[in-house]
Amino acid sequence: MNRPEPQLHTAQAPKVRSVIYLDHHATTPIDPRVAQLVMQVMSEVYGNANSVEHTIGNAAALVVEQARTAVAHLVDAEPQHVHFTSGSTEAIHLAISHAIGVNRKVPLSVALSRVEHRAVIDTLIHAERLQLVEITWIDVDETAQIVLPSLESALHAGVELVCVMAANNEVGTLYPIPAISKLVHDAGATILVDATQGAGRMGLSCLDSEIDYLALSGHKLNGPKGVGALISPIYNPSEAYGLATSHSATPNVPGIAGLGEACRLMSLEGDAENRRQSLLRDRLETELLLRLPGVVVNGEIGNRLPNNLNFSALGAPNDVVIARLRDTVALSTGSACNSGAQSPSHVLSAMGLADELLDSCLRIGLGRQTTEADIDQAVETIATAIAEVRNLLSGAQND
Ligand code: PLP
Repeated sequence: MNRPEPQLHTAQAPKVRSVIYLDHHATTPIDPRVAQLVMQVMSEVYGNANSVEHTIGNAAALVVEQARTAVAHLVDAEPQHVHFTSGSTEAIHLAISHAIGVNRKVPLSVALSRVEHRAVIDTLIHAERLQLVEITWIDVDETAQIVLPSLESALHAGVELVCVMAANNEVGTLYPIPAISKLVHDAGATILVDATQGAGRMGLSCLDSEIDYLALSGHKLNGPKGVGALISPIYNPSEAYGLATSHSATPNVPGIAGLGEACRLMSLEGDAENRRQSLLRDRLETELLLRLPGVVVNGEIGNRLPNNLNFSALGAPNDVVIARLRDTVALSTGSACNSGAQSPSHVLSAMGLADELLDSCLRIGLGRQTTEADIDQAVETIATAIAEVRNLLSGAQND
């Protein structure tokens, strides 16, 4: 059989320099300082961090321990509670399998907000199909904020695990984790906080809020892709449901070093950077509202991620607008797994928004590399695209 020879490719990114990148909720570019450290560790610290019988392994183990401390510091946790994963999705899977494994009875009763990320929702729906969990949904209001009586009634009914994200990845709404965690613990339940978007962008303390499981991911923090952490004082792999094992796999030392450095930089520079990004976001929002009639900002305006702007431009279908902006401004309609798909955002649907707001929503995420000039250029380009789409469609209707 004539099979093509495997080829080695040096990654050839398409020419994207001219595109203004405003999709930082999907992923963030790696910080050059982090990239440099990853490269250095990858080439120099090649030992297996589990091989502590010699100095080569010890050097790798030291890198892992330093990263563990930096990750813990970002979310005010104990370093020994940090378990490295391939990202938030795996951290969420581990947390849920552990909660199922230590539960006294099956199915585990789980409550989750309707606006959780698909990584939580789809995992739990799958587990429900396998009769491992039974799901109770927690309602949200029109700003995507948790309706507390809905959570309270779930707890009253005896829910054992509550999943509430720290910050929403579509509309940026921030959740009052300390208060929610207290309610959950007072009811004798445990809490899983998906902090993929919130870590470093809002106050989070695992220790103060006694968070049982917290998930975060390197690539949302200007760190590498494919590395993240489950932070949990109670997680023990040998208790998890499934093929549990106490064997610890060879750690991804360069990735872990990169995650640690990204967290360290976020701890040092995050506050100033968050302030800068929120000012740029406000400027973008104000200018778009000035230029375009019929724009509605989605989410909880005074209580959002500093880098988030989600708005609907009535009469301008988002897929048409995004297609026009393809080569100039990178933004999205919602979470990465929804973008490109025609199904409306489950987050905006849960907020009860009207169809015309769902069809025209756009999500913008600013980041460390976003400049004032980018924002001014983006205002022009986005406003023009929306006006053109509206004109085209109203012309087509008059034909
Ligand atoms: N949770 C939230 C809120 C997210 O935004 C994402 C990624 O978009 C995930 C979980 C999944 O993270 P990862 O891709 O690192 O597994």
